Amino acid sequence: MTQSNVAFLPFVKPEIDEETIQGVADVLRSGWITTGPQNQAFEAALSAFCGGRPVRTFNSGTATLEIGLRIAGVGAGDEVITTPASWVATSNVVYEVGATPVFADIDPVTRNIDLDKLEAAITPRTKAIIPVYLAGMPVDMDRLYAIARQHGLRVIEDAAQAFGATWNGKRIGAFGDLVSFSFHPNKNLTSIEGGALVLNDEAEALLAQKYRLQGITRTGFDGMDCDVLGGKYNLTDVAARVGLGQLKHIERFTAQRRALARAYFAGFEGGAAVGLGMGLPVADFANSNWHMFQITLPLEKLTISRADFMAQLKERGIGSGVHYPAIHLFTLYRERGFKAGMFPHAERFGATTVTLPLFTQMTNDDVARVCRAVNEICAQYAAG
Ligand SMILES: *Cc1c(COP(=O)(O)O)cnc(C)c1O
Repeated sequence: MTQSNVAFLPFVKPEIDEETIQGVADVLRSGWITTGPQNQAFEAALSAFCGGRPVRTFNSGTATLEIGLRIAGVGAGDEVITTPASWVATSNVVYEVGATPVFADIDPVTRNIDLDKLEAAITPRTKAIIPVYLAGMPVDMDRLYAIARQHGLRVIEDAAQAFGATWNGKRIGAFGDLVSFSFHPNKNLTSIEGGALVLNDEAEALLAQKYRLQGITRTGFDGMDCDVLGGKYNLTDVAARVGLGQLKHIERFTAQRRALARAYFAGFEGGAAVGLGMGLPVADFANSNWHMFQITLPLEKLTISRADFMAQLKERGIGSGVHYPAIHLFTLYRERGFKAGMFPHAERFGATTVTLPLFTQMTNDDVARVCRAVNEICAQYAAG
């Protein structure tokens, strides 16, 4: 049944206020549009948000991860343990710095790396861990850092999806080792493209700055040198101005997302989808920033594929996504020896998950409409 009278509901949509749009126009007219005063203000605001820790911005959340690994001294011969249930950037950066990603399977309930399996994957070559907080749900941070301390490992937190999330009242980014955020438009806070790395001290911040821009150091008007091999990863002031405009609203964004997630749980309760075995995320409204609302389809109880299910949603004017197919099954990874069956929970999650619409400008009625559609499709295509 096509609801042509209702506007298409995308699965994600950034909320940019008029003041930010005006602010971007001001930056464009100012004569300084690349890294400059807006960037400095954005870094200062992010640092304040992260409990005063040093923060440096980058032009993506992929660059932040790669530079984080370089700052941690990860390179050839090192192993880095991470999850196969993430955006492929998480482990691509490990190859990028010449090291080897080692996957540990996920906990099917939290969908995050299983810390028992992480611990079992540690070898004498393990140098670092990249935990991912899928959909903005942190791992057990106390246990994570206990493992890191016990084995002398660096942690590069892939908190790309976790800006605004907390762990027992402490903000993600305000504690821990290196913490990497992404400001891609789909993330809870956007700077169009961009990222930020939270660092331990000023020495690391200086190194981050050098890796960000060609390894250049400047002393005085006429003193230029280059002493590490850096790249070109700086954030523009246009992007920084967007990020600053977003940061003002982050507490509201998170609160709205949590409320919408609650509405999803209420909307699905007792429905056909749950009755057939559809999986729901952990109902955490204190720590998670609800970056996404991901269900898992009971495909063995349905006569349609995930792709057909998503097409059915689209026919009803509802967008959806897949986050993410298991990384180790991609060609690049198979060519490096990974195989189906190695990480069954990540494989199953990656093959059955669907991301439903969740963004700040949605209403409870929108959520109810999505829940009705999911239940209707499940009932219509229930096997036998
Ligand atoms: C978005 C994302 C990244 C990469 O961020 P970009 O800004 O797109 O480079 C890395 N890891 C995870 C888990 C992400 O969601």
